[in-house]
Amino acid sequence: MEESMHILPFSEVTKFHGHVCPGTAIGYRAGEIAIKELSSNRAMDEEFLAIVENDSCSVDAIQVVTGCTFGKGNLIFKDYGKNVYTFVNRDTGDALRLSLSKSIDEMDPEFAKIRGKVFSGSASEEEKQEFERQKNKASQDILDMPGEELFDIEHIELEIPEEARIFQSVKCAKCGELVAEHRARVEKGSFVCIPCFDDYSRN
Ligand SMILES: [Zn+2]
Ligand SMILES: [Zn+2]
Repeated sequence: MEESMHILPFSEVTKFHGHVCPGTAIGYRAGEIAIKELSSNRAMDEEFLAIVENDSCSVDAIQVVTGCTFGKGNLIFKDYGKNVYTFVNRDTGDALRLSLSKSIDEMDPEFAKIRGKVFSGSASEEEKQEFERQKNKASQDILDMPGEELFDIEHIELEIPEEARIFQSVKCAKCGELVAEHRARVEKGSFVCIPCFDDYSRN
């Protein structure tokens, strides 16, 4: 591994996310693998792009580890409910797709069992403590697992999404609030924001 490739410790993810969980462990590993596989010599910033196919705990880890964030526009969310993470280095055009190979329940049936009990509300105090212990263990196992076991990993060809742009704002004719031009709607010849827009649909 090159000296210049700095990967933040998992504790930084926990600080940001608020708790240790298998989801953040998965996101951490995805980000770590992507950095190792895709980073070029330049310091990674906006040329690194993440496309996530779920909005679970894992995405918090990806934001911390890779620096791809919603605010910078280099984190793209596709609402597919899949544990799939694609990373692109815009400089090199390299793209890496990681798909979780097994569900957490398959990886750790013991954890799945006790989680079911705790979520049903019928767990005793000891069982709740056991759940916390199992959750930490399941997370640690994910952090220690070989990357190729955790994910199906492939380099793919990808049409690189356009870089984030900055848009002008217009005033909504109904509520008077500002709305970015590209999200505004037109109603009776005036700009309106989406919440104010009287949608026409026959579905
Ligand atoms: Zn979590
Ligand atoms: Zn409005």
